[in-house]
Parts: sequence; structure tokens; C-alpha cells
Amino acid sequence: MTTETQITTWLASQQQAMIDLLRETVDIDSGSYNKPGIDAVGAAIERFLASQDIPTERVKQSKHGDCIRAMVGAEPAASATNSPSNIVLMGHRDTVFPDGETQRRPFTIRDTTAYGPGVADMKAGLVMNAFVLAAFRKFGGAPAPLVGLFTGDEEIGSPEGRPVIEAEARRARVVFNSEPGRVSGNVVTGRKGGVFSAFRITGRAAHSGGNFIEGISAIEELARKIQAIHALTDLDRGITLNVGLVSGGQSVNTVAPWAEGQIDLRYIHPADRDEIMAKIEAIIARSFVPGTKAELTIKGEFLPLNQTPTAKKLFELYVSSAADTGFKTDGEFTGGCADSGFTAAVGAPTICAVGPVGGKAHSPDEFLDITSLVPRAQAVARAILRLEAAGL
Ligand SMILES: [Zn+2]
Repeated sequence: MTTETQITTWLASQQQAMIDLLRETVDIDSGSYNKPGIDAVGAAIERFLASQDIPTERVKQSKHGDCIRAMVGAEPAASATNSPSNIVLMGHRDTVFPDGETQRRPFTIRDTTAYGPGVADMKAGLVMNAFVLAAFRKFGGAPAPLVGLFTGDEEIGSPEGRPVIEAEARRARVVFNSEPGRVSGNVVTGRKGGVFSAFRITGRAAHSGGNFIEGISAIEELARKIQAIHALTDLDRGITLNVGLVSGGQSVNTVAPWAEGQIDLRYIHPADRDEIMAKIEAIIARSFVPGTKAELTIKGEFLPLNQTPTAKKLFELYVSSAADTGFKTDGEFTGGCADSGFTAAVGAPTICAVGPVGGKAHSPDEFLDITSLVPRAQAVARAILRLEAAGL
């Protein structure tokens, strides 16, 4: 029996075990700001990996979930002749859901669909990665050491996880990011970059009846800035600006002394980032309403995922591995951001959304096709086994 047959056969026998670990991890609240919850999901994964004799280490994080790094060594014969850099399987343990969500909406299965907070985005991907690691631990065959990286703050832009991800990516031969496979069956070969920022405007309070002319309205300034910021949108270039949150003012009969807004910038081409940020900064610095002042703060950021020639090779390898597993897949572009942008930006050939198939992420209708757990794991395993032959 070849190693490929051993691995894919073993994975085929693990669907129920995968569902069990998925249930355990989905039923733990792990919103991005719930460090104990995210670390509890990490502990569940560590317990599984320990049961498979896979060592793990924790990279402690002070505010957000710790990063967990699992390592499965290469076959001695293979690693002796090849580059020592790692094959990275990546995923995030945080979700966008508030505490209590798992009580209201625990993990459930109806027919072949599973529901629950983070079931697709991306606890199923974590489970898949853990089982792929276990398969290689049992049967060997990886052409380089495998690293499982389980992070804890992706949904808020990986403020603490980013340097850990980038360091791992610099040592990586390839990166598989197990965000959910698209409902179409596709994986993701391109993503926009994103910058999330906030601006606060200061004006001057005054009674809007008795003392109107002494007031300086921060809300009027906010309105003018929003129009100028939204006008930077250039759909042909894939640049979009959205002021998605605003607040301000003191009372209806007070000229507003303060106002604030939050901006989501998305772009495709790396050079566009600085150009648009400079324009946003100029809008923030300018006072449309004389006497107002404003400040801009960057809150979080994702880099774009663009397909390099090596990443294209990895994608083609994945497509053929999927075909031999029995499913058809293609690459698609999305405006959504992910950690794969960070790994691609430091030069690691990266493929994204190789996780089990699901949809309606970030909503109460989020679902996972549980019949995709095994084949998605098998496709990643096949791609790993064939990296050498593909020249990767
Ligand atoms: Zn995700």
C-alpha cells in the first residue's frame, strides 16, 4: 500500500472523530476578545494532538488568544535531500460571535449540514488541519516538516498574531490556509487588502438656540469628511471606502462638540494602499468646517493576497489533488481579507480556503457541509505528498 493510500484511507475512517472534535470546539465561545475561550479551543486542539503523539508549543499572547504551533517531522530520507523549510497548515480559533452564542445556538447537525458559531469559519478548518497532521504523524511521507499554526485573533486583523504568522511564513515552503471552501467548491487565490481606521473630530459646544454662532459642529465636519472619503472609491481599480460606523454629539440642542467615524478601505494592488491612505490623511487633516480638528488612528490591517507564479503552481497542484480525491475546484477572488495575505506578502506561496466547505459566515445561518470534511483533508494531504513532484 502506498503512503498516499494509507493516509487517504485512514482519513476516510475519521469522519466521526472529526465531527466530535468539531462539536467540542464549536461549543466553546471564542469571540476575538474572549482570550480564555480562544485558549480553551486551543486546549481542545492540544489534547487531540497530544493523543496523536504530536508535540505542540504555545506562543503566549497578552491580550488575544495564544498561538499554538504543532510540528510533525519529515521523513529522514526526504529531509536530507531537500530544503529544510516547512509546510504550514494555518487557521484561526477566534470567531466573530459574542459570549453566550454557543448556549443559544449550540453545534447541531441536520442531515449532512452542521450549524453553530464558527462551524465553517473556521473551526472545521482547524479540525481538518489537526487530522492531516495526525495522518502524517502516523504514516510519514511529508517532503518537509509540517507545521500546524493555530492562531487567535484573525477576525480583528491579527494585531498580535501577525508577527508570529509572518515569522512562520518566512520559513515556509508553502502555506495552506484552511478558511472555509466556497459553496461553489472553489478555493481562494486572491484577496483584497484592508485597512481599518478610526477618526475623531473635535468641534466646540454651544447652545444651538441661544448661542448658535459660537458653536463649531463636529457632526457637520463628519458629514463632509464622509463624503470626501467615500468619493475615493474607484470600483475599476477595486478600491472601496466605507465609513461603517459613526457617532457623535451631546444633545439635539447642542452644536456637536465631537464626532467620530470608522473607515474600511479595501484595495487589490499593494501600491494603492499608501496612495489612498495619504488621501484619507489629507481629508482628516483638512477642516471643511473652520475650527474643527481631527485625528486618524489605524486599528487593524490585512495585506492583499496576490497570485505569484509559485502560488499558481501550488494552486494547480491542489486542483489536481482535488480531482484525484473526487471533487472539482477552481480559484476565485474575494474582497474579504484573511491571514493568507500576510503569508503571501512575505513571499510564501500560499493557497487559501482549502478548508471544509461552508457558507453564510459571520451570520446565524452559518453552515458546514460535513461530507466535505474528509475529502478536503484528503486533497490537502495529496497535495503535500506531491509537492516534490510538482517542483514546489
Ligand atoms: Zn476566517
